[in-house]
Amino acid sequence: MKHNDAPDAHAPARSPNGRPSGLPSPTPARENRLLAALSPLAYKRLLPHLKRKYFETGETLHEPYAPVERIYFVLSGVVSLRLFTANGGYIDIALVGNEGVIGIAGILLSNWPLFAAQVLIVGEALEISPQALQSALRRSRRLHDLLLNYTYLLSEQIGQGVACLRYHSNEQRMARHILEIRERVAANPYHLTHAEIATVFGRSRSLITGGAKALKSKGLIDYSPGEIKITDLEGLKAASCECYEAIIQKIYSQATFRS
Ligand SMILES: [Zn+2]
Repeated sequence: MKHNDAPDAHAPARSPNGRPSGLPSPTPARENRLLAALSPLAYKRLLPHLKRKYFETGETLHEPYAPVERIYFVLSGVVSLRLFTANGGYIDIALVGNEGVIGIAGILLSNWPLFAAQVLIVGEALEISPQALQSALRRSRRLHDLLLNYTYLLSEQIGQGVACLRYHSNEQRMARHILEIRERVAANPYHLTHAEIATVFGRSRSLITGGAKALKSKGLIDYSPGEIKITDLEGLKAASCECYEAIIQKIYSQATFRS
């Protein structure tokens, strides 16, 4: 594969490219961090192929067991990668915000994802066809590296989630999930129902409500139907398991690192 991307020294100063270990406050979710990490030349080449899309909560961006036809660089909001079981159950295996891209299977040999991509929190994305993205990849080593790296980080996020499901308490995971979404939406409060949270845990609404009650009784969050508000951010971080920091730090410090 031939790459003729501009050198990294010419990279734009329009966006922070990483997140230091101290996890400072999140970047306002109005641009995609992968696209922002491209050189001006690579970004300019992509622009004619990018189309802005608004998505609604519950909207499906791609189905399971079917080829991906459109790829989305998320600008704002949160999308869940959702795995369905044969008996009708489902669980969210990873979240994607403006640090990532939806439908990366569309440019791979194995374009037949087992999971669906469904919108958890309303937002925007820049969509592109797999063919146009493939063409851009052949011309930009930087874009190629960013997407390959992101795919790996996504696998780590899913792996961390498996350990979390096995070893961490409902309350810890509830705290982690609320914090993970906060990082991506940069809003407080944000709208999310208990039923939507339950999909991330694969557990019943009663257990989720129990976890939320425990966090509320400690003064860490407040909630009303459809809305969750963080009232003690540092306390909520302390109540979370280590998965929150592991996942968020990886995503924000290593998704756009420079080689
Ligand atoms: Zn955990």
